[in-house]
Amino acid sequence: MPQAERVDSLVLGCGEGGKYLAWDMAQAGQRVAVVERQLIGGSCPNTNCLPSKNEIWSAKVADLVRRAATFGVETGPGSVDMAAVRRRKREMVEGLISMHLDRFKASGAELIMGAGQFVAAKTIEVRLNAGGTRLLSGDRLFLDLGTQATIPELPGLVTATQPLTNVEALELDRLPEHLIVLGGGYVGLEFAQAYRRFGSRITVVEHGPRLAGREDPDVGDAILDVFRSEGIAVVLAAEPLRVEGRSGERVSLRVRTPQGEQTIDGSDLLLAVGRTPNTAGIGLEAAGVALDARGYVTVNDRLETTAPGVWAIGECAGSAQFTHVAYDDFRIIRDNLAGGNRTRRDRLIPFCMFTDPPLARVGLSEGDAGRVGLAVRVARLPMSAVLRTRTISETTGFMKALIATESDRILGFTMLGPEAGEVMAVVQAAMLAGMPHTGLRDAIFTHPTMAEGLVFLFANVPSGAAR
Ligand SMILES: Cc1cc2nc3c(=O)[nH]c(=O)nc-3n(C[C@H](O)[C@H](O)[C@H](O)COP(=O)(O)OP(=O)(O)OC[C@H]3O[C@@H](n4cnc5c(N)ncnc54)[C@H](O)[C@@H]3O)c2cc1C
Repeated sequence: MPQAERVDSLVLGCGEGGKYLAWDMAQAGQRVAVVERQLIGGSCPNTNCLPSKNEIWSAKVADLVRRAATFGVETGPGSVDMAAVRRRKREMVEGLISMHLDRFKASGAELIMGAGQFVAAKTIEVRLNAGGTRLLSGDRLFLDLGTQATIPELPGLVTATQPLTNVEALELDRLPEHLIVLGGGYVGLEFAQAYRRFGSRITVVEHGPRLAGREDPDVGDAILDVFRSEGIAVVLAAEPLRVEGRSGERVSLRVRTPQGEQTIDGSDLLLAVGRTPNTAGIGLEAAGVALDARGYVTVNDRLETTAPGVWAIGECAGSAQFTHVAYDDFRIIRDNLAGGNRTRRDRLIPFCMFTDPPLARVGLSEGDAGRVGLAVRVARLPMSAVLRTRTISETTGFMKALIATESDRILGFTMLGPEAGEVMAVVQAAMLAGMPHTGLRDAIFTHPTMAEGLVFLFANVPSGAAR
């Protein structure tokens, strides 16, 4: 083997945690190289969070234009130009990429564009996108490999269909006539509603009995009502059997439901049935990095892999699949390398699904509490009781809080309603500070804001004993 170029820290994959680690370590004077096969800055700014939220915002505008008369605004018959939707998204992504390149330049970390593969412990061969190879080894090595859309084993799928994933869906410059969305989780729901608002016919096919199956039934049922009210067809408890045709032309999905088999005929098929880690075929196990049964890198709570001097970050390490969690993985590794003792145990992880209304949750759901046998007090408030919603004619949804029975500790907060992600952050801050729910109940929030609803939500907490 030729002599490898040696760096202090080598990062494989330019995802959220990896890039921040690289910038931080390079700024501290280390020699750092980041190997990335395609996406400068990882999937969040290129193919996932930010571009999807960009297009979802276009869909919101389309919806407002369609409903303009409700607000007393006269418009002509609106129409959506998907090429222009894509152009706005692409311009944003290009801007984000140049921001990243500036950060690399300023920090001194080297960005090497190419696909990396282990050839020995802590040694990677890079097949450069520009041609040729480079061999690099690092005293420390950080894996930030991410995931890709899972392609399910479904007869007919790979051979002919060429289905869309989030990557291709965000690059469409045309409107699918009838988009079949396989998967009723967060990713599928965001795309389904956005494309409906752009003007497509939509059918969501979900194998579970509810949409957003990780959430409580009241959440899934409320989202179902929203979707049906917008004319989105939803097929629940559906087991996909086979698929025929070609996405972008004609595609047929055969499913089995409790009511019998049926065929759904559409023009396009979007897969949103989960994620698969980008860990296969790059020599990880030979380099001493063990994988679990699902292909995720085996790590301890400090994100150390089974190979000495090798860490894993973000989705490939099995951390919760959010950018803010990958960023916290970076902070854990950074702080531990500086002598700290942080772990990823007991993190309070919030999330937001950017449907309209959005869904946000932090802490426990009722289902979570039930699974661990925890008695809780539950407070609810319909969004129509939050007067801000009346001013914008968006009264759908609810807030829900879980409170301990033995104390006034807030255990969880769920909101389906306008600005849910922002309101949740208020509750999260209270949870982090250990503030009892009465602190929010008795606070003076600005009127009329969505956060003002927290006063009335927490006033609804049943006193005393558990439900
Ligand atoms: C459609 C969609 C929308 C989402 N929206 C949100 C959201 O709103 N909010 C949120 O918090 N999360 C969202 N997520 C999840 C979020 O995108 C990820 O959790 C986040 O980007 C963290 O990813 P990561 O750092 O683990 O990996 P990534 O950002 O995916 O980085 C991994 C990188 O490694 C590279 N790579 C892999 N293998 C190799 C190799 N062998 N050689 C070289 N490079 C390699 C990849 O090209 C990639 O750039 C969304 C996900 C999807 C699919």
